[in-house]
Amino acid sequence: MKRRGEFVFDWILDFLFPPACPVCGRYIEQRDCWCSDCLKKLVQPRRLPLDAEMNSFLDGGVWALGVYEAGLRDVLRRLKYDGRKNLLGGLHSFIGAGLARVPSLPAPAGPASGGGAGGSYAFTGMENAPVAVPVPLHPDRLKERGFNQSELLFREPFAALGVPMVPALMRVRPTAPQFGLTAAERSRNMQGAFAVAAGTDLSGRMVIIVDDIMTTGATLSECARAVRAAGAAGIMGIVAASGRK
Ligand SMILES: [Zn+2]
Repeated sequence: MKRRGEFVFDWILDFLFPPACPVCGRYIEQRDCWCSDCLKKLVQPRRLPLDAEMNSFLDGGVWALGVYEAGLRDVLRRLKYDGRKNLLGGLHSFIGAGLARVPSLPAPAGPASGGGAGGSYAFTGMENAPVAVPVPLHPDRLKERGFNQSELLFREPFAALGVPMVPALMRVRPTAPQFGLTAAERSRNMQGAFAVAAGTDLSGRMVIIVDDIMTTGATLSECARAVRAAGAAGIMGIVAASGRK
């Protein structure tokens, strides 16, 4: 609940700097959203092609909800590196719209409606109800940033589908930044970097590993390896954006 002073502050802020769509600059009602036209264009959910090894772990496939370019990239970067949590409203609208178009996820409507049509992978029944697991940051990075962007991005949209977010994975060793490394170097850099936290039972569960961005898939792949070792029945990956088409 906002106090009166905050409303006045918002009003002054809107007067001085009218909220604009971060992509096209058009005036928008809410400071934290894209305009509806741009939002529609940004939502481009697609199943990414994977190599054989990734396919063997991520048997439910990996979906990217948007393309890592222009408007989406800027907003994701501002959230991650500038801590602009006011952008989460728009990002949640984007992710919610994307998830609604990923087959085999629970539908947002009533519990009787079942999953999306056409999926190769059925998440049904209580005993294997899916859980979403964010790719973890190293504790030092988490302390410095103050939040895990993957968890912030996906927690609310998945809650709307009745899928709980369980921070089941942890980093068991620090890794070098992936930026500037080749695919082979990225893969080596991530090897054995993750483990499922003690006391978290993923056996027989359908696990959806979520991350903000997928580049080569080395991170998702290693997370999936750890989740598989913990006995998960099926694993899929969902990322907000990827440069891969
Ligand atoms: Zn726009």
